[in-house]
Amino acid sequence: MPGPTTSVEALKQITHLAAALKAPRITQAAARLAEHARDAGWTFEDYLAAVLEREVSARNASGAELRIRAAGFPGRKTLDDFDFDHQPAARSQALALASGAYLAEHRNIVLLGPPGTGKTHLATALGIRACQAGYRVLFATATDWITRLTETHARGRLAAELVRLRRYGLIIVDEVGYLPFEQDAANLFFQLVSSRYEHASLILTSNLPFSGWGAVFGDQIVAAAMIDRIVHHADVIALKGASYRLRDREIDTLPSIRAEQS
Ligand code: ADP
Ligand code: MG
Repeated sequence: MPGPTTSVEALKQITHLAAALKAPRITQAAARLAEHARDAGWTFEDYLAAVLEREVSARNASGAELRIRAAGFPGRKTLDDFDFDHQPAARSQALALASGAYLAEHRNIVLLGPPGTGKTHLATALGIRACQAGYRVLFATATDWITRLTETHARGRLAAELVRLRRYGLIIVDEVGYLPFEQDAANLFFQLVSSRYEHASLILTSNLPFSGWGAVFGDQIVAAAMIDRIVHHADVIALKGASYRLRDREIDTLPSIRAEQS
């Protein structure tokens, strides 16, 4: 039902003002909620809050979606999809981190465990939560990060790039340890870790315990210094057991391992 002339005029003006604010959803919410507000006897404050709330939640949702798409996750994995019965020891730790409080504190998360135990899944799920909480996120494998940083370094842009990357509240480095780093790569990685130390969060995943990182970085001292910075403010989640990928098969280890054992 069309309202009295005055409200038609007012709604026209709202349309104009909402466009000026680049908040077009306010126009729809204002019209739609006005009648409801009158019927329900809302105060002016209730009405204004409800209208603004629509705009803000729509913005957050579309912002989160944009951040998720920009992050470069390898797939959409959520905490709800994760079967914690398979990793009971990680349940309380992982769910506590889902709140995202670690991001405001610039703390890190390290996910350790054998292949197939859900490291990439959990890193992605926590990354998606971070996007939903308003943080910008970038996901890549350790090898991809090294490639990127090497190129930036070659262009003489490393320092600027590290500063730029700090605008991302969360950087995820998947698969540290699958491939060993060259000396130069290890140094670049060290600089990435150092530049984020106490400024912004990192999530790292690795199939190796920390004691194996010296071999990855080709240098025990560099590895120790890096682990020190990463772990100083970090939650370390140890995933255990057999690969989830192989859970319903009649095999409990990878063929290569069985071949070695027989
Ligand atoms: P990792 O990175 O540790 O090698 P992934 O996270 O890639 O392992 O997990 C391998 C596959 O198994 C993925 O498809 C992942 O979604 C699934 N997966 C692993 N652990 C679980 C789990 N506990 N609950 C549900 N899915 C899981
Ligand atoms: Mg993985």
